Formats: sequence, C-alpha cells, structure tokens
Amino acid sequence: MTKTPNISFEFFPPQTLDASFRLWETVQMLAPLNPDFVSVTYGAGGTTRKLTHEAVGAIANNYGLNVAAHLTCVDATRAETMEIAESYAAAGVTEIVALRGDAPKGSERFTAHDDGFTSSVELIEALAATGKFKLRVGAYPEPHPDAADTLADVRWLKRKIDAGASSAMTQFFFEAETFLRFRDACVKEGIIAPIIPGILPIQSWDGTRKFAARCGTQIPAWLDDAFASAKRDGREELLATALCTELCDTLMSEGVDDLHFYTLNKPHLTRQVCHALGVSPQIALQNVA
Ligand code: FAD
Repeated sequence: MTKTPNISFEFFPPQTLDASFRLWETVQMLAPLNPDFVSVTYGAGGTTRKLTHEAVGAIANNYGLNVAAHLTCVDATRAETMEIAESYAAAGVTEIVALRGDAPKGSERFTAHDDGFTSSVELIEALAATGKFKLRVGAYPEPHPDAADTLADVRWLKRKIDAGASSAMTQFFFEAETFLRFRDACVKEGIIAPIIPGILPIQSWDGTRKFAARCGTQIPAWLDDAFASAKRDGREELLATALCTELCDTLMSEGVDDLHFYTLNKPHLTRQVCHALGVSPQIALQNVA
C-alpha cells in the first residue's frame, strides 16, 4: 500500500458566533482523519489570548485531539506570557508553537514590550526551562521580511532548535522546490529536527495573493495564468485541489512524511486533498489499530 502522510491542521480561534460554528464544522470534518496534532493560532498582537485558550481547551476536550497552542511575545511582559503558558500546562496542554509574532496593528516592526521577551529564542528558552512542553516553531523557506536572506533564516532556525524546539512548521509556499531547497540548506547548517512543510489549500486566489505578498511568498506567473483560466471556466476549486494534491505528492516523493495544513477554518479543500493523498477516515482507523 502507498504510504500515507502524517497530517496536522491549523485552526484560528473564532471571534463571532458564526465563526464558532465554522470552526466546529471544520474540526468535526477533519478530526476523523486522525491528525497527529492540530494547532490554534494566537491573534496578531496577542489579540485572541482568551479565545485561543478557550478554543484549545474545547477542541482537546470534545475531540480528544492533541492540540498545540500558538503563543507569541507580542504586547506582554515575560511574566504574563509565562502565566499563559502555565495556564496551558494546568489545562493539560503539552505542545506550544512558540513564536515572536508580528507588530501589533499600527506598528511597522515588532518591538518587544519593555519587560517582554525580545525574540522567539528567548521565549523558547523560557518555555523549555519549564520542562512542560513539546515546542514547535515557525520556519521560512522564502526569506522572512526581517531576514537578510535565506541563510540568515536557517541560522536563526538553528538557534531556535538549539534553544529547545523539537520541530518547525514552515510558512506556505507554492512550489515544492522552494521547500526542498530550504530543507537542504537546513541540513547543511546541521539542523536535524523535522521541518514540516506548511500547506495552504488555495480557497480564493485573490485572497491568497494578498496574503502571499504580506508574507514575502513568491507568486509564480504560471499560477496567475492558471487561476485566471480556471475562473473563466468556474473551475477554481478543481484547480486548487489538483495543485495542492500535486504539491503534497511531489513533497512526499522527496521523502516528506509530515504535512501541516493551513485550513483557514474551511474544511472542504483540505479534506479533499487528504482523501486524494490516501488519508481517509478508514485509513486513520487502521493506523490507530
Ligand atoms: P523568528 O523566527 O524569531 O524571526 C523571523 C526571522 O526574522 C528569522 O528567521 C530571522 O531571520 C529574523 N530574526 C528575528 N529576530 C532576530 C534576531 N534577534 N536576530 C537575528 N535574526 C532575527 N503570528 C501570530 O501572530 N500568531 C500566530 O499564531 C502565528 N502562527 C504562525 C505559525 C507558523 C507555522 C508560522 C510560520 C508563522 C506564524 N505566525 C503567527 C507569524 C509569525 O508571528 C511572523 O512570521 C513573525 O514575524 C515571526 O515570528 P517567528 O517566531 O517565526 O520569528
């Protein structure tokens, strides 16, 4: 039988009643695929602190999933950030995605709180010292806007791993080679921790384009052309499913075992891609047995 990937899903915490229903529908549709873990984001500027906590607890309690809570350094003292981490530990959460975070709304660049962690490395060191969490971190196959180049990103990632992180999930990208080049660069710098590709099923090309521009993700010209034709024919979803499946398939043929899906709390495309890769509720049950 062809090997199926280990999968994980990213969700964001809901801010409205309507969004709550969407999240629960998403979790309900994807949980039967037996993900290794799911993660819940922390709003830019630390804006969803309470909502993230509630969503993490509700997903873990109602679905028995292994949930990693995202945590950033933005707009909080060290003591406040560690208090949040301790409240996760008390709630039985054992995984944290430790991030520096972006600047709060209205600011150009990340600036640490006067008494706050000044970088992701400091946060990771402090969380690792508690001995209570498995720590995951972000990684950037295309240079992060704050990085001089890819080598700077890779060297910084090495520092995050050395500080106590055990794996990294990448920013999304459109072409497999982008990830594979980055993986090679990581190996060359001595990183042996798993680097899990972040996969973004394209829910809307216009939205994805804007998101990519903000993250510094290169947009290949052929993708613009492909979505323009698909739009004319009303086949955008078909194209998105085919492209995402092909991307995952290519990565797997290059030895990638784990895939982290950015679901945007919309389950259908992610589920279709997982099914196309051979991950189905039945297979998930067999794996458990
Ligand atoms: P870092 O890895 O610490 O920094 C990014 C890059 O900047 C580094 O690779 C390095 O090149 C450079 N850099 C930063 N600091 C230094 C330094 N002191 N010295 C030298 N170089 C440095 N944002 C949210 O607000 N909430 C979330 O829930 C969230 N989840 C995410 C999940 C994933 C998987 C990813 C990839 C990103 C996520 N983000 C989230 C976005 C993230 O907060 C931003 O990309 C942020 O700008 C960087 O955070 P980081 O911890 O990855 O940064």
